[in-house]
Amino acid sequence: MLTSGQSFQVLAISPGIAVGRVQPVRRKNSSGAPVLEMISEEQVPSELARVRMAIDKTRQQLTALQTAVREKLNSQDDAGIFDAHLLLVDDRSLLREVETRIKKRLWSAEYALYDTAEHFGKVFANIQDEFLKERAADIRDVADRLLNNLSSQENIPADDRDDCRIIIASTLSPSETAGLDTRKVLGFAIETGSATCHTAILARSMKLPAVAGVPAEIINTLSADDKIIIDGFSGRLIVNPDARTEESYRLRAESAQAFYSTLVQESSLRPETTDGFEIELAINAGSVEDISELKTAGASAVGLLRTEFMFLGRELPDEEEQFEVYKQVLIAAEDAPVTVRTLDIGGDKLDNNIFRSLEANPFLGLRGIRLCLFERRDLFETQLRALLRAGVYGNLRIMLPMVSSVLEVLEVKLLIADLQQQLEKENVEFVRHPVIGVMIETPAAALMADELGRHVDFFSIGTNDLVQYTMAIDRGNERVAYLYKPAHPAILKLIASTVAAARKNNIFVGVCGQMAAEPEFVPLLVGLGVHELSMEPPSVAMVRRVIRSISFYEAEKTAAQALACPNAAASLEVSLNLLKRCAPEISSVLKKTDESGES
Ligand code: PEP
Ligand code: MG
Repeated sequence: MLTSGQSFQVLAISPGIAVGRVQPVRRKNSSGAPVLEMISEEQVPSELARVRMAIDKTRQQLTALQTAVREKLNSQDDAGIFDAHLLLVDDRSLLREVETRIKKRLWSAEYALYDTAEHFGKVFANIQDEFLKERAADIRDVADRLLNNLSSQENIPADDRDDCRIIIASTLSPSETAGLDTRKVLGFAIETGSATCHTAILARSMKLPAVAGVPAEIINTLSADDKIIIDGFSGRLIVNPDARTEESYRLRAESAQAFYSTLVQESSLRPETTDGFEIELAINAGSVEDISELKTAGASAVGLLRTEFMFLGRELPDEEEQFEVYKQVLIAAEDAPVTVRTLDIGGDKLDNNIFRSLEANPFLGLRGIRLCLFERRDLFETQLRALLRAGVYGNLRIMLPMVSSVLEVLEVKLLIADLQQQLEKENVEFVRHPVIGVMIETPAAALMADELGRHVDFFSIGTNDLVQYTMAIDRGNERVAYLYKPAHPAILKLIASTVAAARKNNIFVGVCGQMAAEPEFVPLLVGLGVHELSMEPPSVAMVRRVIRSISFYEAEKTAAQALACPNAAASLEVSLNLLKRCAPEISSVLKKTDESGES
């Protein structure tokens, strides 16, 4: 039972504060049954409408299946089993029972449907007649299909309510997050996830405050009548706050916004240290539209264009479609470099259209370049052809994700040469000398950076994965999030050796993981000698202020000191000390948001 004003320490995954009523997202519990969730009177019509939509969709699916079976097996009998299912879908007494549970007991559509199916399933299972007994299995089968169709509906965010809400759910997939309507959603609180999972990355791009690691009991208990506060700076969730707490959080949200507005006005200032060392500020983008943020943020490059947006949850794009998109991106960026990362599917970005088999450990499986070189070389070739063609329209950098061996790079280079020959024969325009780089996001790549550097034009350090693979923790698992420490000396050492390898090979090195966006790590990265910091656009303003407040000389000393620290807490402290001295206004924002904030 939750009491009003109760406050919970959770994980901050996207900055900002949101205060508002809850929009619970319905999920099944671990036994496969939906969670019993109450709805309000006003939600009844929309729940009834959801049931009807699920029925329509189920009817269509069953009819399509019936036709397919008839054609494939050429069997009228086998197709006939769907007649019984179709009859059930349109059974009026079943529908009436579901509707009664929604209207009278105020249960969610999922639970009402589940309970009705359980009830009829038991009644039929207890009948002596074998034929009727079998109907119990049919009912459960149809109910499962209806439930699936209910949960795949756009039930995020609130259906017909006009007020904005905070989504609360056990999980949100990256594609669900991308589909959130930011005019109606104030933020979200989820159980599984961490600051570097792709759901969090999207939340930051969408400027949605978010927290993760919320215990399941809280998620299952909160209903649409509860009001909560989520603090995406310090990672707090407060249930039904009193008026004073609510006011204090509203004020904090306003002052954070005001501070941010002053920083934004500095977007035309050069991102250089007080002793004149310039860092390239770049943005991470996930769509063509994001490119407009380059100018708004005052950044000079796209350090990472995630191309997954074109592949996930939709029909796969062909060469022409991709060519047009990359061309538009390059033209929109004018002459700014655009680092296009080739398909990085895998890990928490899975899609049935792309993967041919399920893996027990997707983060350690056929992800990124591995998938592209082996299982889906077809997709990779199409993407590379589109990129080579689009490259003539701007300043393209091609970046390979998840590299762990020099051989992978050599193979890609051979493939690119082959594709260039093809294009030449076809008389199609393409870039002759594409700039090719690799992400340094596995410890193997960091340790072999010396060798890798001989074959590529740049490195970009993906700290989200580099921390994950070095610390051996799933980046999306809130239970090991306490080990997710980018300032850990082990990580700093890998970054330092990557920078040294870049220097030796006379190539450029950037950072495009979340570490680049966090003010407390910026002195370390600058001091370690990286050339570019790339991040979600909203973070650029704060990072610019940090760079302009410190000297390179001091940052270098700080980084050297941090490298010699025995643990992550000590090295972070070293960096925070410099920040406190040189940029007290930033350090106080970080400090303030580290406190619980309740009055
Ligand atoms: C990273 O790993 O740091 C990175 C930028 O890539 P992604 O977060 O998409 O894995
Ligand atoms: Mg990565």
